Amino acid sequence: MAGVAAGAQAATGMARLRKAAIESPFYLSRRAPGSTLRRMIRHRIGIDLGGTKIEVAALAPDGGLRVRRRIATPEGYEATLAAMAALAREVERELGETCTVGIGIPGTISPATGLVKNANSTMLNGQALDRDMAALLGREVRVENDANCFALSEAADGAGAGCRVVFGVILGTGCGGGVVVDGAVLRGRQRVAGEWGHNPLPWADAGELPGPHCWCGRAGCLETWLSGPALARDRDGPEARDANELPARAAAGDGRARAALDRHADRLARGLAHVVNLLDPDCIVLGGGLSNMAHLYTALPALLPRHVFSDVCDTPILRNRHGDSSGVRGAAWLWPAD
Ligand SMILES: [Zn+2]
Repeated sequence: MAGVAAGAQAATGMARLRKAAIESPFYLSRRAPGSTLRRMIRHRIGIDLGGTKIEVAALAPDGGLRVRRRIATPEGYEATLAAMAALAREVERELGETCTVGIGIPGTISPATGLVKNANSTMLNGQALDRDMAALLGREVRVENDANCFALSEAADGAGAGCRVVFGVILGTGCGGGVVVDGAVLRGRQRVAGEWGHNPLPWADAGELPGPHCWCGRAGCLETWLSGPALARDRDGPEARDANELPARAAAGDGRARAALDRHADRLARGLAHVVNLLDPDCIVLGGGLSNMAHLYTALPALLPRHVFSDVCDTPILRNRHGDSSGVRGAAWLWPAD
């Protein structure tokens, strides 16, 4: 943890230096002769496109969150495109400048077809989202998987700041993952690097096999065990209540809630042990609704060493810093600082 704290301090120092450089007249004349100050300090727009909501925000050059809007996701692909373009233009009008635009989506752009794949908002699958948005806005638009955006946001100036290799996990209605190395998203040849939620639960016992059916067509994916709905079903069955209520129910004496939480933490540790054995990240940052469950930050460090192939495993398991803002922040950081 000391390394993480030192890293965060170093990152803050870097941000100060960058800010000082940007404010320096020398920076302006050296980097872009003749350009206006407005052009040099332009904001970055991030859009977080979800199945139920679209959120847009602008990041100032120092990473500060500026204008922020949230709307319900409209029905249909064309309406969704139009809504995102309108939001971006509205933010630009308010800031008085043209900005870079990045979009986080619950899927990814296939390098084979140039079209969206793997989106659980299935209306996006098969669409040329980046090119369609570029055509609407008249400039290049960068599109990235939302879990990758989360990891990028936390690596840039969040809980993982100062770490070279960050694995970000989203535990919400689904279960996603993203890898950031030296401040850049590791996308992978198929653009699926970090898609850990559709690996099977490791070291499954007989009662865990073959596992629940997953929307991806397989059975027993980590997502079917670790997501919020999966945890809630483990306690309540088909009439499941919100998984985030389980810690309070367990504290109030509900033994079945406690058992479900214990099983969930153990399964999560098994899943993360695979990540450590393969990638050995400098930290793991948890996001999504379930990341608010405080017991994970003591249970996981105790459980992880049981499964990792190493004499020591002290990988920090960190709560995200930016919470619900990570999606828009990471999308905005798809256009990194100069
Ligand atoms: Zn799956």
